Amino acid sequence: MADKSINKVCVIGAGIMGAGIAAQVANAGVPVLLLDIVRDEDNRNSIAEGAVAKMLKTDPAPFMGKRAAKLVETGNIDDHLDRVAECEWVIEAIIERLDIKQELYAKLEKVRKPGTAVSSNTSTIPLVQLVDGRSDQFKQDFLITHFFNPPRYMRLIEIVAGPKSDPDTVAKVSDFVDRQLGKSVVNAEDSPGFIANRVGTFWIQAAVNAAFDQGISVEEADEIGGRPMGVPKTGIFGLVDLIGVDLIPHLKNSLTSTLSKDDPYQAIARNEPLIDQMIEEGYTGRKGKGGFYRLNKGADGSRVKEAKDLKSGEYRAAARPGLVRGRAAKGDLAALIEAEGKVGAYAWAVLGPTLSYAASIVPEATKTVVGVDDAMKLGYNWKIGPFEMIDRIGAGKLREKLAASDIPVPAILEQVGDGTFYRVENGKRRYFGTDGAYHDVDRPEGVLLLEDIKLSSKPLLKNGSAALWDVGDGVVALEFTAKMNALDEQVMKLIQKSIALVKSDYKALVVYNEGSNFSAGANLGLALFALNIAAWSEVEKSIKGGQDAYKALKYAPFPVVSAPFGMALGGGCEICLNSDAVQAYAETYIGLVEAGVGIVPGWGGCGEMLTRQLENPRHGQGPMPAVSKCFEIISTATVAKSASEAKDLGFLRRSDGITMNRDRLLHDAKVRALAMVDGYEAPEKPEFRLPGPTGAAALKLAVESFRIQGLATPHDETVAAELAHILTGGSTDITETVTEAQMLELEVESTMRLVRNPKSQARVEHMLETGKPLRN
Ligand code: NAD
Repeated sequence: MADKSINKVCVIGAGIMGAGIAAQVANAGVPVLLLDIVRDEDNRNSIAEGAVAKMLKTDPAPFMGKRAAKLVETGNIDDHLDRVAECEWVIEAIIERLDIKQELYAKLEKVRKPGTAVSSNTSTIPLVQLVDGRSDQFKQDFLITHFFNPPRYMRLIEIVAGPKSDPDTVAKVSDFVDRQLGKSVVNAEDSPGFIANRVGTFWIQAAVNAAFDQGISVEEADEIGGRPMGVPKTGIFGLVDLIGVDLIPHLKNSLTSTLSKDDPYQAIARNEPLIDQMIEEGYTGRKGKGGFYRLNKGADGSRVKEAKDLKSGEYRAAARPGLVRGRAAKGDLAALIEAEGKVGAYAWAVLGPTLSYAASIVPEATKTVVGVDDAMKLGYNWKIGPFEMIDRIGAGKLREKLAASDIPVPAILEQVGDGTFYRVENGKRRYFGTDGAYHDVDRPEGVLLLEDIKLSSKPLLKNGSAALWDVGDGVVALEFTAKMNALDEQVMKLIQKSIALVKSDYKALVVYNEGSNFSAGANLGLALFALNIAAWSEVEKSIKGGQDAYKALKYAPFPVVSAPFGMALGGGCEICLNSDAVQAYAETYIGLVEAGVGIVPGWGGCGEMLTRQLENPRHGQGPMPAVSKCFEIISTATVAKSASEAKDLGFLRRSDGITMNRDRLLHDAKVRALAMVDGYEAPEKPEFRLPGPTGAAALKLAVESFRIQGLATPHDETVAAELAHILTGGSTDITETVTEAQMLELEVESTMRLVRNPKSQARVEHMLETGKPLRN
């Protein structure tokens, strides 16, 4: 019987993957031993040490915070291999060579405790070959855990169990990677390339081939094969630039050498002379001199996007073909593959063979259609999986078109007839199995999704920008629904209505949604409209309305828990600050970024952030150190790069929770809210003692020196002066108390002064147009 818990992990191989995996284990708060070979006699741990040092400088960062890096201990396999006996899981991520991996396992067998899980991160080598020659005990403890690069940010992990793997060991590792490392587990069979890379490589090859064969330009290919297909907007060539042009022949070689000779991939795998030449000359994509696209300096010194001409091999200015129109542009895949001319021809040349191939690997590569769809969504960021695409096109229609194009029609596509691969029955999503029956799409225990709740219920309340859902056990979830989950008056109205409803019928409220980001903040488009027509009283009303709604939430007689993820900016951050507690997804990027658009936080963010800083014992006696820290964070529009960093910055309290797996966030937030229900009392209203104008003068002096050094712009100085005024309590002095209501009033006054300033208006306009702050 395997040891139940994993308290320490050993990662062997400190290359791209091993180092990144070790960092993610550390991000979960679990100590990790990172080993590599001895390269330098003077410093026998140099490879692993160098890997950690490099990661501390990498952007996007593999570590979620500095504390995590301290959990990685480095060593080498000659001196420290016996220390695997301290660990409950050993992850092998060394060079992709069967003989070297086997040699390492033979050594491991001698030093590890029986029952210690051992897994390989191999991308291509079959499990049965890896464990050949090892003892039965080793085979029981062994599995493949295939992480994706970069391990912190890619949510997919494919897990392969061998014929002799102990199900308890597999369950133990699966549970750890799910809950602690935050990965979504897809179970794969022991077949070449597993799932995502097998379909992904086929897809890339089909798309590249079709572009060359049909004489389609890279921009045309990416426009047709990107957004309209529900794959990232980079499309194929943009994606290849991102992952590395040199990876194409590498993936091709590894798959052609491991797949059976009659696998359909063999027929489409080919080398393209232009691509070989690009690699040879260092045009390997974003990491190299450029790829199918590059940024070049134009005649006037500005940066110009160029694209490679696939016929001549020369770069030229990138075009925006604007080919895809109508329904085809809006995700109607049937319309896309039937479109006239280039669009339909290219779309079909990519989708036809790719969907046929994806459907052909069930059950060989994974037992269910859900496995294929999940792997492509999590591993290649497709919005919908191949079987979900087939449902959109219609299985019958796809079969007809495949047959007419001489593309194989896989068994499962015959079997499904005129049905769909997914259907909803009694509010549950079900999938079509290889046995011809429909089965529930099961969620692991502790996974609760609004997406599922929506299948079986209607919102309790709803308007154009928000909705309220019953998520069970007396808890409701407030969902933002506008574009980018922007916040406006409608959201505030729904908050007020929700409070009344929860008071009478429910126990607690969580603020949660399943958009790409928690919230981008206040709706700037609406704000700009009001500013353009000088509707000052409307602007003031919307600031006060937001303050009232957020404070009503804060002082409501029931617990409120916010559950942010992704970006939680401006007003999205302020709702978290006004909650009783926060349960944040580990990948939460939270910040008060108002200064970027020339204003200050106006929905209670200043007072709440100040409270957080004043609570921090590190800021010592007197308010000034806390005020200064708060001023620094807000005036520079600092955004935390993880939930862990958000705690260090004070956006989150030490007592707030962090959930590593995105799918577990709602459940965890709900559990946290319910735990607060018994004996719940709303918080007391804070009172501040602040330094007043003398403190503000000190802060302004600091900004002035930044401006003189060229580190701050004149308008930065104006915005910072208003912020200093608020955070130091306005015209108070240290002997007086400032109430929360007074702080809110200061926010309103400063915001109103700033929105009337044309430079702030220019910042709002620029942000809306470019998505970037204007440095005026
Ligand atoms: P890499 O070349 O970056 O790193 C391999 C590391 O293994 C090197 O640091 C090397 O010094 C070390 N090493 C070699 N022999 C060793 C030994 N006997 N003992 C200990 N260390 C040894 O490779 P990588 O890209 O990190 O790949 C590692 C594994 O992960 C491979 O199996 C690969 O197929 C797999 N993988 C890679 C990716 C990817 O995108 N790079 C993705 C998924 C899986």
